[in-house]
Amino acid sequence: METKRVVITDREHIKDEELLEAAKILRTGGLVAFPTETVYGLGGNALDEEAAGKIYAAKGRPSDNPLIAHVSCTAELKPLVKEIPEAGRKLMEAFWPGPLTMIFPKSDRVPYGTTGGLDTVAVRMPNDAVANRLIALAGVPVAAPSANTSGRPSPTTADHVWQDMNGRIDMIIDGGAVGIGVESTIVDVSSDIPTVLRPGAITMEMLKEVLGEVAVDPAILGPVSAGMRPKAPGMKYKHYAPKADLTLVEPLRNGAELPENALDGCTVGLGSCQDLACARQPGMDEDGIRRMVDMVGRLAEKKAAEGLRTGIIGTDESIESYKSLKGIDSFLVRSIGARRSQESVAHNLYAVLREFDDLGVDVIFSESFSEDHLGQAIMNRLSKAAGYKIVRV
Ligand code: AMP
Ligand code: MG
Repeated sequence: METKRVVITDREHIKDEELLEAAKILRTGGLVAFPTETVYGLGGNALDEEAAGKIYAAKGRPSDNPLIAHVSCTAELKPLVKEIPEAGRKLMEAFWPGPLTMIFPKSDRVPYGTTGGLDTVAVRMPNDAVANRLIALAGVPVAAPSANTSGRPSPTTADHVWQDMNGRIDMIIDGGAVGIGVESTIVDVSSDIPTVLRPGAITMEMLKEVLGEVAVDPAILGPVSAGMRPKAPGMKYKHYAPKADLTLVEPLRNGAELPENALDGCTVGLGSCQDLACARQPGMDEDGIRRMVDMVGRLAEKKAAEGLRTGIIGTDESIESYKSLKGIDSFLVRSIGARRSQESVAHNLYAVLREFDDLGVDVIFSESFSEDHLGQAIMNRLSKAAGYKIVRV
């Protein structure tokens, strides 16, 4: 299949002509990748089981991992759901359009082929002008998971989508780099207590302000253990793991002594999911950050001395200090953004992981981030990418 590429010339003044062909493709059962404010989505008609099937095939995604249906206005939500619970109403008012997906009891119109066999449906109204106009012109709700091959980092540019999807889908709309860079927050409003199934740019703090009580699915705090049944089916699948062996370094809360064997292995202090949650707290003091940066450098030098091609993920604030390390190629030292700007870290996260996949490194050491606000989403994605391999200092 030939994949067409349409470039949006001016995002401030989107012309309908640029999107009409894409809208027609969606309406008639084809696949179009398009930018949203979170990551690029791979769209198909959410009411067409066959189109949903094509999405699963193009991504290589297991068919019981449900898709999120995207709408362009609140009126389009009604036909998709049985009811809109009070919590859903409040969150829609506060955060739609925006990077928030909600789980509702599904109506009969939504096929099981879209929901992975579930009686609930995930719905989001994106706040990206291209996405919003495209969905409106298509005239159907658009099922759109991230437009990457299953198991690769989510795409944040049209080039990323091209790498994974060229020849597999009908069209890619190139609207430039996305804004946020991590996938939407998912909140299940179909249960008694609204529950966060995936952290994102609508943060826990923001949700609590609107709802008061909010629960968190344990699957977002640590590895999914054998007995655990995550509410978001996607959580049980092998998450993205870089080709290289990635280890995070994280400061301990009170600056506890460095364990003696810290440099021998890379899994010091890796506890159960609960330990992991309680060992972390929002905010990192200067001393902790210094210890963390020092440890990233020491671990990297050690691996480089063993002859391994070693990468480092630092920040704008720390990056220079890594470039003079013994045996480290400064080309393999990358900044993921500015520590003082969580937005910049989220924005660059997947692009940096993709770059390292292309660079052919053996091991990567990365700094960690505080888990407040957007930091919860950042650390959720980074810890998953590291397979929860975390060295604490
Ligand atoms: P993606 O489209 O790749 O961003 O992933 C969508 C995520 O939403 C997956 O992790 C799904 O498990 C989750 N999801 C979609 N629909 C539902 C649903 N009905 N109930 C629970 N989780 C859902
Ligand atoms: Mg995805």
